[in-house]
Amino acid sequence: MITCFDIGGSAIKCALATADGRIGGLTRVPTPAHDFGAFTAAMQALIEAGGPSRGVAVSIAGVLDPLDGRIKCANIPCIDGRTLAADLGAAFGLPVWIINDADSFALAEAQAGAARGHANVFGLILGTGVGGGLVIGGRLIGGPGGFAGEWGHGPVVSSPRFPCGCGQSGCLDTIGGARGLERLYRSLNGRSMDSREIIAAWQSGDADAERTIACWTDLLSGPLAMLVNTLGASMLPVGGGLANSAPLIARLDQAVRARILRKTGQPIVVPGQAGAEPGLIGAAWLGLDKLGGAHA
Ligand SMILES: [Zn+2]
Repeated sequence: MITCFDIGGSAIKCALATADGRIGGLTRVPTPAHDFGAFTAAMQALIEAGGPSRGVAVSIAGVLDPLDGRIKCANIPCIDGRTLAADLGAAFGLPVWIINDADSFALAEAQAGAARGHANVFGLILGTGVGGGLVIGGRLIGGPGGFAGEWGHGPVVSSPRFPCGCGQSGCLDTIGGARGLERLYRSLNGRSMDSREIIAAWQSGDADAERTIACWTDLLSGPLAMLVNTLGASMLPVGGGLANSAPLIARLDQAVRARILRKTGQPIVVPGQAGAEPGLIGAAWLGLDKLGGAHA
């Protein structure tokens, strides 16, 4: 068995994974966000409650520095800046593997979701902002260059050009997620609306919302077409809040397929299907991969 965790700012979720990637025995406790001793103890108690474990795989909303393994995690101050895999491994006496939540989503979709059976998969997160993860041949692609899959940053949007938290301007992260959609609506129409209201208004034929969705689709589909052409990705499952709108994802899919070199009548940008716990499922598959794929 592998012990899997999905850790966010408010909750630690834990489950056990079997050798076929199935998870069971889901438990959930509050995250001790400010006390590393309590954080470690909470995880240890969950590991012991599950019985013998061969390793611990953790999906977490943070960015791992590929060179030194330090994590940047604003939501959980007590782990921010730590070499988390090494610190937890020393505490538990077990191998510990860490994966960020976007990578976990991509791996879950490639192994057990909408992209099952596809060799080259790019998982998209359209949540508060945008993120992503790359899976080739069933394995997550990282890289010493750092931050593989982070398609949201880089100054590619010329107009409207918004400043981004990364220090640049014109990043897709500023227009691609739910906050970005709201930013576009405000910029185009001079007033504010919640992303869910914008999507609902668009579906009921509102002209201002249609202009916003058309702009959003246009700005995202070009860079996504380049990603598809570059990676040879045949499936791009979408997670995050905007993936709850199937018509929105279908609109994006049509725009991307109109711009890629390969012509296909089948959707390639689709809502994720791995289920309610992509963090735990992605962590399970990471652990299985690390242990050699079987006999977990
Ligand atoms: Zn940026």
